[in-house]
Amino acid sequence: MKKKLSKIAAVALAVVMLFGMNLTPLKAAEARAPLCPRCSGSMIPVKTYSSWTVPREERCTHGFPFGNDKIKTRTVYTTITCSSCKLAYPTTTSTETMRECYGHY
Ligand SMILES: [Zn+2]
Ligand SMILES: [Zn+2]
Repeated sequence: MKKKLSKIAAVALAVVMLFGMNLTPLKAAEARAPLCPRCSGSMIPVKTYSSWTVPREERCTHGFPFGNDKIKTRTVYTTITCSSCKLAYPTTTSTETMRECYGHY
């Protein structure tokens, strides 16, 4: 009986740890308009973008009988910068994806 209980507890702990690990970066990314630690001004995210690349094409999903959609991706560089004293956090990168229709009749 005791053994079974501790096993359940171990599984529950593992699940909690797993969720905790998954949720932490999401929460950090969602936090917005933080205050500047130096002057209490507002920290504004400044984004710059690489040019679009087309790593792949997929069959058109817009109802056209011919043609492919181009799946375009670009890199987004985000630097959170204070609007008053220009203090900046290290730049983070993420990827943006969009589908461009090249379908035709
Ligand atoms: Zn500042
Ligand atoms: Zn399409």
